Amino acid sequence: MERAMNCPKCNAQLQSFVHQGVEIERCGGCGGLWFDVFEHEELRELSGSDAIDTGAPAKVPAGTGSGLCPKDQQRLFSMVVAGQPHIAYESCGLCHGVFFDAGEFKDFRETTFGERLRAIFGVARVAQGQA
Ligand SMILES: [Zn+2]
Ligand SMILES: [Zn+2]
Repeated sequence: MERAMNCPKCNAQLQSFVHQGVEIERCGGCGGLWFDVFEHEELRELSGSDAIDTGAPAKVPAGTGSGLCPKDQQRLFSMVVAGQPHIAYESCGLCHGVFFDAGEFKDFRETTFGERLRAIFGVARVAQGQA
């Protein structure tokens, strides 16, 4: 039997579902997504994975959630995606799971395609620091 996991942002229960063999937790309240370590990297590569993100984040008053890891109750710390500093997410220092607000995973995925294009044309280094 699995222990219920609660959203670090709004405390609603996380619902698990499977996309192409990868298990993901999505919050029934705010629509945020919880990924176990490396799952978000794995999912980014899978076709159609933008569909797991419901898009519009529900408005949650600041301080509603515990800010703790749903798996092991460690305090999450804020991170930004390398090369995409507008995407802030929460990460657990113990299990290395990550929490994305609704809409952020889509963004994370899309910008990656742009980054790959830049890498193909060899201008990734030039583009850095101009954003
Ligand atoms: Zn939530
Ligand atoms: Zn954790």
